[in-house]
Amino acid sequence: MLAYTYISKGEFRLVSKDMPVILDPRDAIVKVTLGSICTSDLHIMHGSVPKAVPGITVGHEMVGIVERTGDAVRRFRPGDRVAVNVETFCGECFFCRHGYVNNCTDPNGGWALGCRIDGGQAEYVRVPYADQGLAGIPDKVSDEQALFTGDILATGFWAARISEIRESDTVLIIGAGPTGICTLLCAMLRQPERIIICEKDLQRSDFIREHYPDVLVTRPDECLEFVMNHSRHGGADVVIEAAGSSETFRLAWECARPNAIVTIVAMYDSPQVLPLPEMYGKNLIFKTGGVDGCDSDEILKLIAEGRIDTTPLITHRFPLDRIAEAYDLFENRRENVMKIAITPPVV
Ligand SMILES: [Zn+2]
Ligand SMILES: [Zn+2]
Repeated sequence: MLAYTYISKGEFRLVSKDMPVILDPRDAIVKVTLGSICTSDLHIMHGSVPKAVPGITVGHEMVGIVERTGDAVRRFRPGDRVAVNVETFCGECFFCRHGYVNNCTDPNGGWALGCRIDGGQAEYVRVPYADQGLAGIPDKVSDEQALFTGDILATGFWAARISEIRESDTVLIIGAGPTGICTLLCAMLRQPERIIICEKDLQRSDFIREHYPDVLVTRPDECLEFVMNHSRHGGADVVIEAAGSSETFRLAWECARPNAIVTIVAMYDSPQVLPLPEMYGKNLIFKTGGVDGCDSDEILKLIAEGRIDTTPLITHRFPLDRIAEAYDLFENRRENVMKIAITPPVV
């Protein structure tokens, strides 16, 4: 089968590999029907993910059809349509039992697919702990509708959940990239009084204005003043930072009102400064870290009900055998690309 593979720093290549096989009774083999490319894939390509293992198939956003299951898999059978979760988790350790699945202590726990073990930019993928790692796609939900369930949408859902958004709140979301928009969609479900998006890219700002006309849009250089003018208590009640630069980290806490929750979803490529003397008395609550992606069933239910729709994010479609072109377009952000759907060959 075809598998897009991490060869070495700076090089991914489409190679021919054997079909994956069941290695553990809790595994499932999934025939990938649609995949996507994530910014984290680019981080692997550029060698900035130390845990990534050369030789693995990349890709951790995918949906498909269960092909085979190990003897211990209870929730799924061959033929089931499924969304694959970016995180592998055992469901049994202390952290899993408390919903902190990103901190699963299993040796394979955390972000394994497409990083430490073969992922889904391929025709088939082996999913460990399939009962936790898969979610059934309702009949009326299409592959494109379900595509982001296990990764960026899970992140947005988790971010909105831990940010404790209330109806009287002004919510500031920094960054209107794919993850920022998924966060926006999930924040909107909680019906806060006002949502402000801060984005420097004009095309992405226009995307927000076109698709979500009730959302206020501002730029980083005017964000602080804008938020002060559009909030009732000297800043946003909730800030979610989904951009990932030093400038946006600073904006996140500067734009927060005293006692606000500041949720950091972004992944930074360098340490950030937390100037505690300047922040003294603001009594901020910071929430940080990787997604706890254990809400896929609820997310798919919301998609089926028409309450979450991420299909506008799919701006481009490529077959798997042209995935290198898709990466080039995605990385260089040409043609106003937001997300790309990758289709394996039909066999
Ligand atoms: Zn990702
Ligand atoms: Zn666990």
